[in-house]
Amino acid sequence: MAGEPQADCLFCKIVKGEVPATVVKETETTVAFRDINPQAPVHVLVIPKVHYADAGSLAAAEPGIAADVLREAGEVALQENGEKGFRIVFNTGAGAGQTVFHAHAHVLGGRGFNWPPG
Ligand code: 5GP
Ligand code: ZN
Repeated sequence: MAGEPQADCLFCKIVKGEVPATVVKETETTVAFRDINPQAPVHVLVIPKVHYADAGSLAAAEPGIAADVLREAGEVALQENGEKGFRIVFNTGAGAGQTVFHAHAHVLGGRGFNWPPG
């Protein structure tokens, strides 16, 4: 069923506590934890507890939870990085660099960022 945990999904395992993660914030619908390979001084992943392959399919099926992910991304940035600017990235599809196919927001902060992104 849509949104159900997937046995072979790394982030579903983090949600269930089967794979350890450094959790910085959790709500009823989301978990935020530090990226294992940080690309900035602040690099936190915010994921929905339900399983969808990417942010677009999450938003189409569960718009309220997609909004929760965005709200939590902003709150985590404030918690971790204060009022300084931050970047939210949703890599979508292998061609754009997505490697874990459970929707997640990268929250990046603590350094400057180029535009256009690499
Ligand atoms: P993507 O490339 O799919 O946009 O992002 C996946 C992210 O998950 C990468 O930044 C990668 O470093 C991170 N990641 C992969 N495996 C683990 C893990 O086991 N624990 C944590 N905390 N992050 C992970
Ligand atoms: Zn999953």
